[in-house]
Amino acid sequence: MEKAKRVSVYLFPVLLILITTLIKLNFTEIIGNRTPFLLYGGVVIAATWYSGWRIGLITNIVCVLLVVYFFIEPIYSFYVAPRIVVHLALFILQNTLVILMGLALKKSLKKSQSAETKLKLLLEEACDLIVLRDKNGKATYVSPRVLEITGYTPQEYMELSFDRLVEPEFLEMFTEKLNSISKTPNERQSVLALFKRKDGELRWLEGDVYNYLNREGINALVSHIKDVTHRVELERQKDEFIGLASHELKTPITNIKGFTALAKASIYTDSQKSEALLERSEANIKRLSKLVSDLLDISKINTGKQDYEFETFDLSFLLRDTVQSFALTYSGHIFSSEIESNAIVYGDRNRLEQVIINLIDNAIKYSPHSRQIIIKQKVMQSNVVVSVQDFGIGISEEHLQNIFNRFYRVDSSAMRFQGLGLGLFIAADILKRHQGNFWVESKQGEGSTFNFIIPLERACADLATTDNATFYRDSSISINYHYNDHYLEVRWLGFQTKETVNAAGLRILEYVKKTRAKLVFNDNSQVVGNWSETSDHGGNVWFPLIAEAGVQYFAWILSKNRFSNMAAQRSYEMNRSNIVIRLFDEEEDGLSWLKDQEVKSEMIS
Ligand code: ADP
Repeated sequence: MEKAKRVSVYLFPVLLILITTLIKLNFTEIIGNRTPFLLYGGVVIAATWYSGWRIGLITNIVCVLLVVYFFIEPIYSFYVAPRIVVHLALFILQNTLVILMGLALKKSLKKSQSAETKLKLLLEEACDLIVLRDKNGKATYVSPRVLEITGYTPQEYMELSFDRLVEPEFLEMFTEKLNSISKTPNERQSVLALFKRKDGELRWLEGDVYNYLNREGINALVSHIKDVTHRVELERQKDEFIGLASHELKTPITNIKGFTALAKASIYTDSQKSEALLERSEANIKRLSKLVSDLLDISKINTGKQDYEFETFDLSFLLRDTVQSFALTYSGHIFSSEIESNAIVYGDRNRLEQVIINLIDNAIKYSPHSRQIIIKQKVMQSNVVVSVQDFGIGISEEHLQNIFNRFYRVDSSAMRFQGLGLGLFIAADILKRHQGNFWVESKQGEGSTFNFIIPLERACADLATTDNATFYRDSSISINYHYNDHYLEVRWLGFQTKETVNAAGLRILEYVKKTRAKLVFNDNSQVVGNWSETSDHGGNVWFPLIAEAGVQYFAWILSKNRFSNMAAQRSYEMNRSNIVIRLFDEEEDGLSWLKDQEVKSEMIS
């Protein structure tokens, strides 16, 4: 195609000159006998337009020669009489001017075209949605980003009226602002409103609207719109948190003031009463100092300045002591405990105590009608597992995945129970620092069990059994290649931490490469624990890596523990590879799906 175009650039002027000369030579009677300056001038213009100024110049010279040779007396000679020289010079000058004009025109056309392309690219690639409206508010241009932000195509968006887009409570403010900005040329205003996407989801959109109605070349109201839902949500959480924190701080302060004033008044008359009042005051001081230290912890976690003092100690002693002091303080509650001895860990004693206190505190707080709390500690697989069970209000599944987030409080409990939604977030951070993990089992109305796991100190080196080709097993994973059915069976064994998940991921990759397996049977049914940080890495990096090593189908058997599935679910959603992944509750279903894929892929190949 390119080549044909290049040839035509040369061919076009040659043909043009040939045809013009032949016509002029053979049809003199019809077109007259005058010197054909005008005709050849046209040839030069056409050649310049089509083939560029260089070929235009050459055409100009060829035409002059032809005119001199064929049409100026004496014909068939290159002799030019002096009186003709002026005509000839004018002819050359006129054609050169035409060529120069063409050149300038082409340049400016190119410039404006490239400016237009740049502008178009800018509008299309901009992170913001850009909308141009005329003075009546009708959209005249909508950038493609609209699809991502609102779910509508530009065409659909242009045809929608504001009442279909903007939520009713914002409609009046929105149209008023738009009207007012359209009356003030060259002004800018920001508008924030709640919009309804095509799929019905509500999003906060913020637009900067510029009145360029009078600006030559634009003549429009230009809006830069972005989705600020996340920011608005954070601001709302922050405001709510400040309100809540002030309230939470004010209550114990008021109590302390009241109780100490009363105690002071009765210190000489009724010492028993004043002692009781001081005790209540002390309890409020404790609550206050817990709130303040939680707030300090949060800011330290944010800045990465949380200090830890690691030492070797027996967690079972710490747990027994903590349960005992709770039993003394909350004599109305029944604390049963099953604590295995010899849980030697390497950790920060105070921080782990903080985690345990927070779990037991919550178990008491969120069980207004039940008095029983069960605390267990077991040593398993070179780890120690601690659980705190209550029979209180429980947590519904939809909230489970959020309760370890900062400031998160389940709506229904936020109304009834004091708290800032920081305790579990801090606990999760402490457990991360101990290479630990956590998970929850809960049913609304029936109670919850909060669990955490941390490794024992000097956990005996993980003894692996392997044939270095098709089989591998350690305490967290087993890998086995099935020759006959051509699939790699991977079983995750029990408790997992961030470290075990990362190491096992690499191990699977190694065996995929060794066995060249295309099918993976990945069994999570025995997994407990949730490590969501590894999920994104799993989807973004690990799946593409095993895809590159040849895996095509991945049957994923979910854990029986719902909380543990959250990380798996996220990895699955983040999958950036071409691997076909299917989630199953039952082992048999996953296996038979995998075998079907093998048959299909064999048929294809
Ligand atoms: P706080 O208790 O101060 O609000 P936490 O971070 O300790 O903050 O807990 C976060 C949320 O998780 C609580 O607001 C509550 O809704 C829920 N929650 C925590 N523990 C329990 C429990 N044992 N039973 C029911 N809900 C709980």
